[in-house]
Amino acid sequence: MTVSSIVNPRSLISDALVFLGDRAARRPALALSLFMAGGLALLGAGGAAGAAIAQQRLADQAAQAQLTQARAQRELNALAARVGELQAQANRLNALGERLTRIGGLKDGEFDFKRPVGVGGDEAVRDMPRDELDQSLRALQEQLTTSGEQLTVLDTLLADRAHALGAVPSREPVIDSYVTSGFGLRADPIVGGGQFHKGIDFSANTGDPVLAVADGVVSFVGERSGYGNTVEIDHGNGYVTRYAHNSRLVRRNGELVRAGDEIAKAGSTGRSTGAHVHLEVWQDGRVVNPRPFLQGNRLRG
Ligand SMILES: [Zn+2]
Repeated sequence: MTVSSIVNPRSLISDALVFLGDRAARRPALALSLFMAGGLALLGAGGAAGAAIAQQRLADQAAQAQLTQARAQRELNALAARVGELQAQANRLNALGERLTRIGGLKDGEFDFKRPVGVGGDEAVRDMPRDELDQSLRALQEQLTTSGEQLTVLDTLLADRAHALGAVPSREPVIDSYVTSGFGLRADPIVGGGQFHKGIDFSANTGDPVLAVADGVVSFVGERSGYGNTVEIDHGNGYVTRYAHNSRLVRRNGELVRAGDEIAKAGSTGRSTGAHVHLEVWQDGRVVNPRPFLQGNRLRG
């Protein structure tokens, strides 16, 4: 989503300002010239009959001018209604900006998505004075320019932040590693045949530090059948991570660990064909695919 696509209504407002300066100004001038033409006709006509005819024409022209004036006012009112719609859109953009600022955990006062000055509900039933509409349009244009600039900065900040989060090495249990086997059904690496792989395998050398992927409390340290030397961390909210096949265990039960802390040395103990780190994520007692948690940082906090 680009910010420029959001702030496009600006050009619409520019058009409306040009329209106002052009059209609404021209209509009263036309009416005035009609009055003047009527006056000249009255001077030129002699006698009562001529005066009556001239009076009738003057009345017709006055009525015509009134119609013209009324039409111009209707157009102004229609424009006012459109300004109201644009202000509603601006309010939605500002609400979005406020929400993004909050979700992004950005400091208060860094962004100010203040509400634009509204045309108001009662304006719909009365004629909109041209000056007032002019003022509303300018205020709206200013508001959209400011909001657009802020959204651009916000966009950049959030993109930078997302990039920085993705680069934190503690998000994976081994630094500079790659996934050698994903979560789910696969051929059994030892006896062949179908097998459900309950975690993700990360490449590692024996002795490489194994890192906690999120903050938590060590809830198991020891040997598990098939897993070899195993560490488990309880992250609260029903989430537990399990790190298997370690060569050495360096933590005690109940220890508090932070994301990125070393919790073991990698190895190939248990049912393993070579040194690697097998990571499992358990949610409320059920094993789940770890990938969303590594990418979404949901275990943190
Ligand atoms: Zn594995």
